[in-house]
Amino acid sequence: MTRKQRKRFHKIHIEISNICNLQCSFCPPVERDNKMMSLDLFRDLVKQIAPMTELVCLHLMGDPLVHPKLKEMIDICDEYDLNIFLVTNGVLLKPEKFELLLHPRFYQINFSLHSFFDNFPDKNPEKYLTRIFNFTRLALEKRPELYLNYRLWNLNDPMGSQTQNTQMLAQICEQFNFEPPSEIDVRKKKSIKIQDRLYLHFDTEFIWPSLDLPMLGTKGTCYGLSSHFGILADGTVVPCCLDKEAAIPIGNATQQPIKEILASSRAQAILRGFKNKELVEKLCQRCQYIERFSDSRIPIKVA
Ligand code: SF4
Ligand code: SF4
Repeated sequence: MTRKQRKRFHKIHIEISNICNLQCSFCPPVERDNKMMSLDLFRDLVKQIAPMTELVCLHLMGDPLVHPKLKEMIDICDEYDLNIFLVTNGVLLKPEKFELLLHPRFYQINFSLHSFFDNFPDKNPEKYLTRIFNFTRLALEKRPELYLNYRLWNLNDPMGSQTQNTQMLAQICEQFNFEPPSEIDVRKKKSIKIQDRLYLHFDTEFIWPSLDLPMLGTKGTCYGLSSHFGILADGTVVPCCLDKEAAIPIGNATQQPIKEILASSRAQAILRGFKNKELVEKLCQRCQYIERFSDSRIPIKVA
């Protein structure tokens, strides 16, 4: 699998299920009704987005490994020549699923390792990590072009996850004979190569944007709707992967073609605003994520 010429979007998120097998303290529960996307809707979406995006991310909320029709969804992506980006906490990654995730359609798989300790603070992660390590070894051998990311996104966690990161890191380092740096500046560099296409990915926790939060400001920019957007499990189109409750519903793909939704006056106003450094939507005015595009640089100690 090789990267194609640039398309309009880098990545489009399709929330194949808004149900997760975990409930992390830093991930607000989904308020929408539980929903698994049907294969018919998924096929219709993939048919429409394949010509406009380099990648489909099978995640917005929920964990994609929960969906019982994941194999069929991967086959649909393959049929439409659409490469896949997967984000999972990896807890449901059993050996019988290894072959599925080694499918050549996968471009990148991210394992959110920080979720394990957050949900099971007293549990030894050895079995969990061993399964992920076993999959990783197979992938390095059979799919050397596949990017694998071990995410540790709970830096500066008030619950003391710094120590937990250290424990996870020690096991990763031992497994791959790798020496991590003692300090990282996540504003400048978040990824550290372990070997080949296997990376560690650090970040701080962030607060999910919500209409209930106080306004932070009206100035700022974002790549929502220019590099990516999201489609929730019921077909609602949102400008980014952080609009978890559809506070900015720019349309519904079960009722209107996606191209029309993207050309709608609301979508165009959001895009124009970002170009002019104006946050036109209330949710964007309450979004901490835009601070990640600012110039401030905060060095964060890892170990
Ligand atoms: S952060 Fe990921 S693993 Fe944790 S509850 Fe949210 S979707 Fe699930
Ligand atoms: S500013 Fe925040 S809420 Fe608005 S589109 Fe960007 S990431 Fe989403």
